[in-house]
Amino acid sequence: MSKDYKSAEIGFDPENWDDFRKMGHKVFDEMVDSMESLGDRATWTPIPDHSIEKLKQPLSNDPRDYGDVYEDFKTHVMPYSNGNTSPRYWGWVNGAGTPEGILSGLLMNTMHTPNILHQHAGLWVELQVIEWLKDIVKYPATASGILTSGGSMANYTGLAAARRDKIGLTARRDGMTGHDVRGYTVYSSSETHYSVAKAWDALGLGYDNSRAIPVDDDYQMDIDALNAAIASDKVRGYIPIAVVGTLMTVNTGAIDPMNAIADVAEAEDLWFHVDACIGCALGASKKHKGLMAGVERADSFAADLHKWFSQPYEVGFCLVNPGHKLEETFSFDANYITNLPGTLSDTHVKFSDRGLELSRGFRALPTWISLQTRGTDQFGDMIDQNIEQSQYLVGLVKDADDMELLAPAPYNIVNFRYAPKDENGVITNANLNEVNRQILTKLQRTGIAAPSSSTMDGKFSIRMCNVNQRTRRADFDTLVNAVREFGKELIAE
Ligand SMILES: *Cc1c(COP(=O)(O)O)cnc(C)c1O
Repeated sequence: MSKDYKSAEIGFDPENWDDFRKMGHKVFDEMVDSMESLGDRATWTPIPDHSIEKLKQPLSNDPRDYGDVYEDFKTHVMPYSNGNTSPRYWGWVNGAGTPEGILSGLLMNTMHTPNILHQHAGLWVELQVIEWLKDIVKYPATASGILTSGGSMANYTGLAAARRDKIGLTARRDGMTGHDVRGYTVYSSSETHYSVAKAWDALGLGYDNSRAIPVDDDYQMDIDALNAAIASDKVRGYIPIAVVGTLMTVNTGAIDPMNAIADVAEAEDLWFHVDACIGCALGASKKHKGLMAGVERADSFAADLHKWFSQPYEVGFCLVNPGHKLEETFSFDANYITNLPGTLSDTHVKFSDRGLELSRGFRALPTWISLQTRGTDQFGDMIDQNIEQSQYLVGLVKDADDMELLAPAPYNIVNFRYAPKDENGVITNANLNEVNRQILTKLQRTGIAAPSSSTMDGKFSIRMCNVNQRTRRADFDTLVNAVREFGKELIAE
């Protein structure tokens, strides 16, 4: 920037685009290099203290070169991600990303469009992505939808529609003022993701009015218990308005009995919402799409694309059937967003009328590109592969006399632990929770692998969730061998 810049008008574009281009090529090459060598590196490396110190520096008023800041990024930020792009990352439910996603970031940020209420190509791209997704997840054509920042926002969006539909416009207009009831309740299994209760809280309905229904031995919602809870609430002056079924729970991948839940919803006049943040991807699989039976009966459907569909963060979606119920939930008017025919504001759809947000990134673009370049079948094959690989791990655990499964693992989530036994098959260590906690810590801190954990029936479990397009079968041999090695060491100590 020239010294006398104050005498001229300023802007943020470079004086010389060629310099920018050169820097861009360098950055791109180095990012591709880092992706190429991913498998050779530790899955996770904890961020060292000196990097944390570096990141805590106050902001200086002196501009730094982009190249300098980029070097800081490479030294102090990039190496210390949570590792979910690695082949042996199986924590929580995090997708591993795609190469086309890297390019989409560039296209998206060059176009730099806020996908709001304008007449522009981004509107049509998002609308079409929603149509494709409806088709993939076998949801009725009469639905409308919106891409959200993720599953939590998708659950919120669907449950907001439940509130609008079952309580009525007054819930939007007056909040809870004047409602002479003990509470409006929503039902979901005790294995439900906490974003459902959080949404009920955010909607002003109170998270204690989100009821956790017990599950059976397969971690699926117990329908008798659901009916009993509804009956008891009605007697006590609560008004049941919604029920949530989960298509693959976080802990074990359980699928609630969707048709039975839909029957209860019909009989009790409840809104039926499906949380398919993990299971939505089953729709792409020819082999497993049957597991989605019943979700087409839901009034709303929440899903994630940055999980099993490997899309760049942040993207999920919510569908509501019939579509007008979504717009009834979120539409608002203001003089600065009036539709003027023939102008930029002339749109038949305003996404701000389908969700909470106004300015939104062009999050439809990466999915629009990825779905086309891969085709639904390739996603389906990946789902099948991840399930088969996980069943390979189940087999390794079952065959090992020093390990055990801690929950049914029918699909891609496996809970297991190291549990050595004596010749009579009796577990020899009384402190397996602590041993397995330490095994997990070692797996992560050595960078060998990154499963996460859960507790099944009071037993600490190593929890493996495979939504990873980079995982190969042999990675599970590595995992099981490391668990055994660390377990033996820890018990010997
Ligand atoms: C991940 C997840 C969510 C929340 O989704 P985010 O994208 O993390 O907000 C909700 N429900 C289930 C079942 C999930 O697995």
